[in-house]
Amino acid sequence: MEVQNIQGSQWSARKVDQIYIVSLKNYSNIVEALTDFVQNQNIHAGEVTGIGAVGEATLRFFSFETKTYIDKTFKEQMEVANISGNVSVIDGKLSLHIHITLGRQDYTALAGHLLEAKIHGAGEFIFYPLDTRAVKIKDKETGINFYDFDK
Ligand code: FE
Repeated sequence: MEVQNIQGSQWSARKVDQIYIVSLKNYSNIVEALTDFVQNQNIHAGEVTGIGAVGEATLRFFSFETKTYIDKTFKEQMEVANISGNVSVIDGKLSLHIHITLGRQDYTALAGHLLEAKIHGAGEFIFYPLDTRAVKIKDKETGINFYDFDK
């Protein structure tokens, strides 16, 4: 087994063989910090899961009717009940697609596509890289990025 500790400005991580434990610093932005992590480690495909807590979050909903995104920001303390996401390459750039389930103080849940959220408390993630480069291309009909395994 190979174990290695690594450090970024907004995160610290331990690599165990090919898998990472990642801790985000308090007040860091989840998408920004995790994107920095995958760029730093040159991860082009794989899965991320996570839990923790945030002080604010912006979720994005894709309306098929108007083909536009509707964004909504929630400014309150929330538990990150779950984050699940994947890494791909879009227009030559590493991209994270993340969905989040947030627990409010009244124990109800908010969920959706994560645009951005600020850690307030812990941010604990596991990264499972895959040794490939998964490319997504924007589909003209739907406006959504789909995997293209011929690329
Ligand atoms: Fe999404």
